[in-house]
Amino acid sequence: MVRFVPTVCPYCGAGCGLLLVARDNRVIGTRPWQRHPVNEGKLCIKGWNAHEFIHHSERLTAPLIKDGQSFREASWEEALKLVASRFGEIKEQHGPGSVAILSSAKCTNEENYVIQKFARAVVGTNNIDHCARLCHAPTVAGLVASLGSGAMTNPIGDLEQSDCILVIGSDTTSQHPLVAREIIKAKERGAKLILADPRAIQLSKQADIFLQLKPGTEIALLNGIMKVILERGLEDKEFIARRTEGIEDLTNTVKDYPLEQVEQITGVKAKDIEEAALTYGQAERAAIVYAMGITQHTTGTANVMSTANLALLTGNLGRTGTGVNPLRGQNNVQGACDLGALPDVLPGYRSVTDDAIRAEVAGLWGVASLPSEAGLTVVEMLDAAAEGKIKAMYIIGENPMLSDPDTSHVKKGLENLEFLVVQDIFPTETAQLAGVVLPSACWAEKEGTYTNTERRVQLSRKAVEPPGEAVSDWEIICRLAKAMGFADLFPYTSAEEIFEELRKVTPQYAGMTYERLNQPEGLVWPCPTEDHPGTPILHVDQCSRGKGKFQAVGHEAPAEEPDEEYPLILTTGRVASQWHGGSMTRRSPTLNNEFPRSYIEINPQDAKKLGVVNGDLVTVVSRRGEIETDALVTDRIELGVVFMPFHFVEGAANLLTNPALDPISKIPEFKVAAVRVSKAS
Ligand code: SF4
Repeated sequence: MVRFVPTVCPYCGAGCGLLLVARDNRVIGTRPWQRHPVNEGKLCIKGWNAHEFIHHSERLTAPLIKDGQSFREASWEEALKLVASRFGEIKEQHGPGSVAILSSAKCTNEENYVIQKFARAVVGTNNIDHCARLCHAPTVAGLVASLGSGAMTNPIGDLEQSDCILVIGSDTTSQHPLVAREIIKAKERGAKLILADPRAIQLSKQADIFLQLKPGTEIALLNGIMKVILERGLEDKEFIARRTEGIEDLTNTVKDYPLEQVEQITGVKAKDIEEAALTYGQAERAAIVYAMGITQHTTGTANVMSTANLALLTGNLGRTGTGVNPLRGQNNVQGACDLGALPDVLPGYRSVTDDAIRAEVAGLWGVASLPSEAGLTVVEMLDAAAEGKIKAMYIIGENPMLSDPDTSHVKKGLENLEFLVVQDIFPTETAQLAGVVLPSACWAEKEGTYTNTERRVQLSRKAVEPPGEAVSDWEIICRLAKAMGFADLFPYTSAEEIFEELRKVTPQYAGMTYERLNQPEGLVWPCPTEDHPGTPILHVDQCSRGKGKFQAVGHEAPAEEPDEEYPLILTTGRVASQWHGGSMTRRSPTLNNEFPRSYIEINPQDAKKLGVVNGDLVTVVSRRGEIETDALVTDRIELGVVFMPFHFVEGAANLLTNPALDPISKIPEFKVAAVRVSKAS
């Protein structure tokens, strides 16, 4: 009999409602959920083909233990006994700070909660982080500082009500297609679309104003726009007086951004900047949408603050069709952050350095104390591994060998570990380096909740059994905790039991229950009590921090600029049919056939200078590595800039990218690296 099982799409943060079509123990297709508030009966190519990797022959089906250069299958008992004893020995010899754990933005909320609890209560470390560090850590840091909450302010569906949408640093049609649908709907209603991006992406065809800026010049552009808004008296004086602080600092800073100078820095014509400022400044309801083109810079946090400055300056906050709207990457990156898979905060963004909060959480968990020092972030963990300070890592559902910057350095760090455990659904490039590999269930094989980019918590149901010996990530953690002597801290027999515990320590989720979540629209946090309807729009009467704070920030050049040796700027991103490190999409025949190979976009004038034509194999070299890939000669990209997607292990862009960090959020500068390109010999 065919069953239609309600789940959430496993790819992007839009969190579309997906029905898995299951017959016996196989998923044979997907259907969009008609009543779902985000996708309203639509799916993008990834959603339509999300089932293709579930029964792939390369799924991990049994625990594996490294034996010489290869792996041998082991029982759960043997594998977990080995992991427990090695973690125990390393903790004993070198202290809890010598162990680091990467959680996963693909895992459910319940799993992220259990993983961070394991790190803090069993291992005794705050060395817990996940890939949010590599995409939206600046959003959390920047929006908290400006507004008091590090999340998308408005629902996705709200965009349709905007009069003007500024999309900056987001290839929305490729990365979040169902969000792009709302932008197009707004356009059809008569809204103006301003696009700021280094590439002429698909949205540039719909844009009323296209600002093709150099990567790493976003603050200069936004300061130029705000200078015009102030000069023309388009700021919302009443909103500024009543609901903000620090306007003088902002006014003084943007004075130094005359449009001629902004044009020089950004490469965008002064008249276009002025037109964008007037269009945004005069709109009744203006929304900002951004993604990793804003965050993946050494100025990532300042870039985010700059977007908040623009919204505050024009009073575009707390109303339908307005707001600052970061589009989160993975399907549960919002939830992984909410549930404390971060080195400095417990669930609910409550600081690990706050004695009272630690005591409250320790009391609930039944442990004497919790570690009080903030732990290491993703890149810091791998640096510490390379230096021999981190001795063991437990990597769950992440593949740093493809997703982190400067892959050679990542490999060196992982190879330098005394013990590496990888828990995943496929034998990834990172899993190849592990001492033990643990097989986990994918999203279709377990129950749990996911939180999408607009803070919507949604219940996903189990459609089929996992393959072989694989079990859900939370069950593996519970078994491991038991093997380490901590069974009483992890007594759960279902995801719902975990949810009942996590909502006690996560104020934003306090009023949610599985019963309440059992509806297509889920619930949007904050939802503090069981009779609270949820909060689709943040900062309505006041900002979460009280007054919105203007954070005056100035332009700073990227960590690496082009020079004679490396004359081009490399920027990276995604294509619509692939996803992240490709472990799922490259095993989905339909998706992989759409875009099966790595490539580099080169401007025709640069290509001519290099003697390169479309389809040539080229060598791309940065200070960190060298790869070969296919040239795509196109005027989509500006002179002096080249673009690569980062999904492909053959031609891996992250061998080239720069690990220089934003000092506040510790995100690496994926979006700007100096490279040289030549025809491959
Ligand atoms: Fe899945 Fe995102 Fe596509 Fe929706 S837009 S179907 S969540 S990949």
